[in-house]
Amino acid sequence: METQIVTITSSEPKESVDRKLMRAGEIIKRGGLVAFPTETVYGLGGDALNPEASGRIYAAKGRPSDNPLIVHIAEMEMLDRITRNISDKARRLADAFWPGPLTMIFDKSDIVPRQTTGGLDTIAVRMPSHSIALEFIRQSGGFVAAPSANISGRPSPTAAKYVIQDMNGRIDMIISADDIRTDAIGLESTIVDMTADIPTILRPGYITQEMISRRIGETDMDVTILSADSQQAPKAPGMKYRHYAPKGELVIVEGEPDKVVEYINEQTRIHRQNGERTGIIGTDRLISKYEADVVKNAGDKNDTSVIARRLYTFLREFDDEKVEYMYSEAFNGDGFGQAVMNRLLKAAGHKIIKV
Ligand code: AMP
Ligand code: MG
Repeated sequence: METQIVTITSSEPKESVDRKLMRAGEIIKRGGLVAFPTETVYGLGGDALNPEASGRIYAAKGRPSDNPLIVHIAEMEMLDRITRNISDKARRLADAFWPGPLTMIFDKSDIVPRQTTGGLDTIAVRMPSHSIALEFIRQSGGFVAAPSANISGRPSPTAAKYVIQDMNGRIDMIISADDIRTDAIGLESTIVDMTADIPTILRPGYITQEMISRRIGETDMDVTILSADSQQAPKAPGMKYRHYAPKGELVIVEGEPDKVVEYINEQTRIHRQNGERTGIIGTDRLISKYEADVVKNAGDKNDTSVIARRLYTFLREFDDEKVEYMYSEAFNGDGFGQAVMNRLLKAAGHKIIKV
């Protein structure tokens, strides 16, 4: 399949942007697939009400078909058509955080095919805030099922070049708009299950538990987010898969700064003796002390938003730079930092060393 790559820039006239998005919408309406920018990561969109389109999304990603898709909408009225039993709490969260990086789980209505929901009777819904995403959804008929636009198991794409790397030849169109994503979040949305008695966070993200609880009172956190060795299956089926993973082996090193540097440099020397390449994710204060082949600076240890924005790019770059062993400093796991540590732990297959 030939993939059209369409670039949209911030200085482009509205008529030109609209023309491109109308073409993209037509592809979706006839069952095709289009990758598009959002404020979190790039999404891989198909018509959420068309079971064949959902099937194509799973095929293009190589995604297990029990891993449900998030349905993206652009207007609040659309929520009532695809869900049942919208609680007052859910409406309050939508008021507070939509459009934005929050996904809520509801009971699904009959118009939504089970192919889209991975066989479940519930449906995940989000209204993204990115202007291109919103207009693209409107042009597509209003309901776009979209997981992240990466091959299953690889880090979610934070730039168009990574979408092209994974999806070129597999889908109909890629909308490249890096220019209009400079303030992107870089990690996937927060998922909260609104069908539970106590709303439960299934995946941490930019919208934190504290922000949610402030609006609706008590919330729970899925146990599998909190503990690495939980024997329970996560409630978001997708969270059980090894995810966000680079090709090499990643280990998180936690401890006193000097000890962290000492340990990582020692490992680097051992790998070098074996002819293996090493990569590091470190922060400002320690970065000049590392001796590895490839060193990535995640910035200020306390500035979670910068680390979040760079994390997946680093993991992809390590692959391109043929790094076989990677070490990362641990980050502050409070607030939005919980999402950063959740993704980093998954990328590391939960390998964390305390020095
Ligand atoms: P992605 O769009 O690739 O970020 O993945 C979507 C995530 O949402 C996966 O972890 C899914 O398991 C989760 N998800 C989607 N729909 C549901 C649902 N109905 N119930 C629970 N989790 C869901
Ligand atoms: Mg994904």
